[in-house]
Amino acid sequence: MLYQSTRGNSPQASFSEILLGGLASDGGLYLPIEYPQITAVQLNSWRQLSYADLAFEIIQLYCDDIPANDLKGLIKKTYTSAVYCNGRSADRADDITPIHWLGLEGEQSRLGLLSLSNGPTLAFKDMAMQLLGNLFEYTLAKAKQDLNILGATSGDTGSAAEYAMRSKKGIRVFMLSPRGKMSAFQSAQMYSLQDANIFNLAVEGVFDDCQDMVKAVSNDLSFKAANRIGTVNSINWGRVMAQVIYYFKGYLLATQSSSEKISFTVPSGNFGNICAGHIARMMGLPIDQLVLATNENDVLDEFFKSGIYRTRKSSETLHTSSPSMDISKASNFERFIFDLLGKDGKRTAALFKQVETEGGFDLSKDPAFQRISEFGFRSGSSSHQNRLETIRDIDRRYGVMIDTHTADGVKVAREFLKPHSTMLVLETALPIKFGATIQEALGRPADCPTAFEGIERLPQRVVNMPVDVKKIQDFIEEHI
Ligand SMILES: *Cc1c(COP(=O)(O)O)cnc(C)c1O
Repeated sequence: MLYQSTRGNSPQASFSEILLGGLASDGGLYLPIEYPQITAVQLNSWRQLSYADLAFEIIQLYCDDIPANDLKGLIKKTYTSAVYCNGRSADRADDITPIHWLGLEGEQSRLGLLSLSNGPTLAFKDMAMQLLGNLFEYTLAKAKQDLNILGATSGDTGSAAEYAMRSKKGIRVFMLSPRGKMSAFQSAQMYSLQDANIFNLAVEGVFDDCQDMVKAVSNDLSFKAANRIGTVNSINWGRVMAQVIYYFKGYLLATQSSSEKISFTVPSGNFGNICAGHIARMMGLPIDQLVLATNENDVLDEFFKSGIYRTRKSSETLHTSSPSMDISKASNFERFIFDLLGKDGKRTAALFKQVETEGGFDLSKDPAFQRISEFGFRSGSSSHQNRLETIRDIDRRYGVMIDTHTADGVKVAREFLKPHSTMLVLETALPIKFGATIQEALGRPADCPTAFEGIERLPQRVVNMPVDVKKIQDFIEEHI
């Protein structure tokens, strides 16, 4: 399988060649030249497979330059119930991503949560990041190289990356986070890690300061090359690929035969998670509706409703109670536009140049946008008030506590329930990560999985940093 850039102006590359990189040289994102097609017969034959075996079947279609036995070993090591046992369905940890059925709503529609937050950091980002950790370690060892991952986080990404890379050979993580701006639980998750290859840098500033410094270091090409700096941001193809698997698993758990169709609702920020759903659908998975849910930062909802993509300046991004979706420019969106335009790299390049110069583009009159319903997308948004009401309602009606991002999903999913159908909402995090809003909604603290009780009291390992690129660079050089 070869990969091409969405801007059509980079050489094609293999899986291993793009695994450790970010953008293609022309500024585009990598996608496979074609999506492997899965027949109904093949899909049925996967019904009995464990999550790891299913993952192997799907990943080997995309990755043909790692020997099959090695790949299988890495996947088995990643998707084991010992790693995904922290969620509410711990008794079904063997499924890795079990469905938690809520009940029947509307006209006999089944509404369920696809539990993706059972991993070490209690958010869905573990699903892909854990695999990346194992793939990176393997690939680096083969090439006799090492890698220094530099990232900025406002919470979920940083902790998922650290827990995936901790104690991995050949890898160090330097993670910038805004000091005092994350929830106590999220800070404790990251800062309590004692692994020698993990460096937490608490910046005296906001998340944008952290992100700007990462960009500045990445643009310093000689520093980057001399210190083997890499990233694990959400444009990484391996992350998208790993997320395709749970759409298949969710489908197989929810259906009896492969003639059934089901719908998914996805709380979205950078369009990574739902992009994987789009790819699963392009591979032939019988998905009816793919519903995109945003919070008040509704750039993507606006696009799917109107055809107009209008990014916001980062200073205009609203700080909401579903903070992992506070995004004004969705980094994976280009992958979908490329497919929507019939894989026209030239046009995709022109449109995303226009995003840089004019802040967006307008496809409302374009024939491609007229056909967008063929891709199954629907969209909606929600507010803080909606979140509070949804968290309360799901708690009262079903006795289930959901987090703020999942609540955005449930709110929007309910607007698209068809009679006698099945809708799965992707559970993107557990409520304990966003405890303040749970307290506000329910008047009681969020449930804490036993393994995490008292995490806020563990000793922390973190270094304070001013907003100063040179100081960050010095720190990296001193610690590699
Ligand atoms: C990252 C994240 C999202 C957004 O996912 P994207 O892939 O960026 O669309 C939603 N919810 C939670 C809890 C997250 O951590």
